[in-house]
Amino acid sequence: MKLRFPFAALVGLLVLTGCPDKKRAENAETSTPAAPKLPKAPVFNADSAYAFTAKQVAFGPRVPNSKAHVACGNWMVAKLKGYGLKVVEQPFEAMTFDGTNIHARNIIAQYQPQAARRVAIFGHWDTRPFADNDKVKKNAPMDGASDGASAVAVALEMARVLSQQPDSLAPNVGVDFIFFDAEDWGHDETTQADLKNQLAGSSTDSWCLGSQYWTTHLLPANYKPEYGVLLDMVGAKGGVFTREETSRNYARGPLDKIWNTAAQLGYSDFFRFQDTGGITDDHVYTNKAGIPTLDIYHYNNSSDIFPAYHHATTDNMSIIDRKTLKAVGQTVLQTLYID
Ligand SMILES: [Zn+2]
Repeated sequence: MKLRFPFAALVGLLVLTGCPDKKRAENAETSTPAAPKLPKAPVFNADSAYAFTAKQVAFGPRVPNSKAHVACGNWMVAKLKGYGLKVVEQPFEAMTFDGTNIHARNIIAQYQPQAARRVAIFGHWDTRPFADNDKVKKNAPMDGASDGASAVAVALEMARVLSQQPDSLAPNVGVDFIFFDAEDWGHDETTQADLKNQLAGSSTDSWCLGSQYWTTHLLPANYKPEYGVLLDMVGAKGGVFTREETSRNYARGPLDKIWNTAAQLGYSDFFRFQDTGGITDDHVYTNKAGIPTLDIYHYNNSSDIFPAYHHATTDNMSIIDRKTLKAVGQTVLQTLYID
């Protein structure tokens, strides 16, 4: 998916190894005062989200310029239109770090497009072309079941459920599902030191090409949601989501709202009150564009801050767990109903 900011990640690890128990205890005190009762929200169906994940994986790796990529994008557009959302596609061309010219598209789907107050749900739908973090098959294609497909699946299920609600049970906000392409074809210096980054600028900017394009060509024009939620790797068994540095700095209010909602729903095993370092992901660019955005991504408590399946062939359906999909989907869906 993305590189970490080396220094920020180190700080996060120091916090982590410094006094984890104390940190948790302090945060537990601030997060457990009697919270107001949650407003009624629809049920997020984890079986449906699981099926959406499997469907994407069944297309094959959704690598830009491949048939599977085009077919999966078409399927997503048809699904979203089928739910009555207003769908706009944003095609673009881009050059990747290894000199490949790719044909890509961002997909934007609006629920309640007339609503003035809006929330953005972001995710990337492409698959990394190589499993460079794999212990053995470093150049093999990968399924991207959690890294890519799970986030799209959670967003699609939210769209499906919202589209079925009668007006009396609709949230007060409109929701924009924005699926970025070409997030994951970046240069990883730790695994690809033998390859040269052919792009100008830092190798960090070789990631997130879809969100970089979108934030410089905003669609809808002048788009200004109240906040954005980026989903990335939200489907694996034992998923853990921490309070990432850029999210804390730019979207503290929505971050607190989501983590407190998760606690009220009983999902604190997934949503941890633990501060961790910043990572490079699409939210870096949406925050730069003035949209306060937090990142819900699978954090791993180890020297490598990403889980073992990250950019490896093990990122396949065998690691996908309905419980994780449910925890993320129900929490974010519920939060849309809290003003
Ligand atoms: Zn990735």
